[in-house]
Amino acid sequence: MDQRLPKPALPGRNAALLFDLDGTLVPFADDPSRVALPDELRRILVHVRDLLDGALGIISGRGIDDLDAIVQIPRIAAAGLHGGEWRTADGQRAELPIHRPIIEAALRHAHHRMDTRSGLLIEDKGSSIALHFRQCPDKRESVEQVAFDLLRISGSGFELQQGNCVIELKPAGVDKGTALHRLMESTPFQGRNPWFIGDDRTDEHAFECVNRLGGSSVVVGSRRPTAARAALANPNSVRRWLGRMIVNLDTTAGDSPA
Ligand SMILES: [Mg+2]
Repeated sequence: MDQRLPKPALPGRNAALLFDLDGTLVPFADDPSRVALPDELRRILVHVRDLLDGALGIISGRGIDDLDAIVQIPRIAAAGLHGGEWRTADGQRAELPIHRPIIEAALRHAHHRMDTRSGLLIEDKGSSIALHFRQCPDKRESVEQVAFDLLRISGSGFELQQGNCVIELKPAGVDKGTALHRLMESTPFQGRNPWFIGDDRTDEHAFECVNRLGGSSVVVGSRRPTAARAALANPNSVRRWLGRMIVNLDTTAGDSPA
């Protein structure tokens, strides 16, 4: 963890809280399909969402259906695929156009070039492709080379996004910053003080966006340079911080919003 950054303050009743999932609320798993949200954390998130009149959401590289299967909080506001799709707190869902023929051509190339028997994973996310190498980090360079090939095949409408043991081919100009901005324009987020809590390089766009909006950016467990202005050590620290926030808001109930 970056020791130069202070711990975050406790969000007030006028906060809007937006979280990344993997590495932020829950630890990474070798197989991303095996990630689970603990029941206690689910209860905490629901409690915080109620205290904030619904202004709590998830912004992830995962698709929303995948997020729902893990988070299991009905009607939670969410942006998936780094902002390629989103759902506001009133349940309205929308997505950017998907260029499926290009994705399918890139997928064919990835399956031709990558040996998935060695632990590499090719994830078809509909509008993007994630190449995972968490189980074999020594294969980073060869996976990067495949990713550059996919970018060449896909053309200028796409870009590569580096993550934690993953490289993604995704539509250009769509990132967690644009996702955060879109959710902050929706009810009940609009007009609230935005917070974003994330761990990964893919979260830097959201840190920069939330800083521009005058909000608070919190990085989880990172040693790399970051735009975030506060830090927590790991997902357990995030859970304890939320617990302190609940106590603080419960004990200040009736005070004017902060
Ligand atoms: Mg993450």
